[in-house]
Amino acid sequence: MSLEQDDQVIRLLDNKSIKKHKKDYNFIHFASDSVHELAFLQCLSGHSQPSHPISAVLYTPDNSSYSSVLESYIRNLRFNTPATPKLCLIITATHESHKQAAVICSKKHGLEIKIQSGDHDYEGMSYVSDAPFVILDMFNLRSISVDIEDESAWVQAGATIGEIYYRIAEKSKTHVFPSGTFVTVGAGGHFSGGRKEKMKQVDLQ
Ligand SMILES: Cc1cc2nc3c(=O)[nH]c(=O)nc-3n(C[C@H](O)[C@H](O)[C@H](O)COP(=O)(O)OP(=O)(O)OC[C@H]3O[C@@H](n4cnc5c(N)ncnc54)[C@H](O)[C@@H]3O)c2cc1C
Repeated sequence: MSLEQDDQVIRLLDNKSIKKHKKDYNFIHFASDSVHELAFLQCLSGHSQPSHPISAVLYTPDNSSYSSVLESYIRNLRFNTPATPKLCLIITATHESHKQAAVICSKKHGLEIKIQSGDHDYEGMSYVSDAPFVILDMFNLRSISVDIEDESAWVQAGATIGEIYYRIAEKSKTHVFPSGTFVTVGAGGHFSGGRKEKMKQVDLQ
């Protein structure tokens, strides 16, 4: 479904259809009107693969487990107060198309994206904002493929640096990846610049 088709579908929806979609998606309340909210959800659905429905990995305030899931993202309890602006939606991506849909649709609908990989953020960068935002959780995307011949590795953002060390050690006793000492730090936040230590080498040595 294209963006234009998304818009077309929205225009054709009557009140009954909107009610049904609200139920299907555990409707959320972040936009100025319900048609805009529904358009965002339809956009997400239209840009993810039908074989991996994104509705199965969405958490909204209407989910019974929403509060506990949200609190698990707030690593620094200083930000877990009633005064802290809250997000509108959590996407726990399990497929590449979920990330793509999150980026395309958030941009289209003017929402910020906060990405979490290893959940080591104590500064609130990935779970606090004054503007409406979605959390894109990369935790489930954590595959690691090490090619010792080529001395390289492909790592998904949700993998921890400890898992990377482990997979390299499985293949070689002489190669290492210099990252950090805290093995639960995520590759996503670490590689994108959050690390404390200057990474001396980016390829396996
Ligand atoms: C207890 C603790 C121990 C640490 N130990 C070490 C250490 O030993 N060595 C070291 O070098 N550093 C260390 N750090 C710093 C750590 O590398 C950074 O905090 C890093 O950003 C954590 O990444 P994360 O994926 O675990 O965290 P997250 O909470 O997932 O993300 C941290 C930041 O990176 C952004 N981000 C996450 N994933 C992505 C992505 N895929 N694309 C773009 N942006 C993304 C988030 O939005 C957020 O701003 C430590 C931090 C803590 C709190």
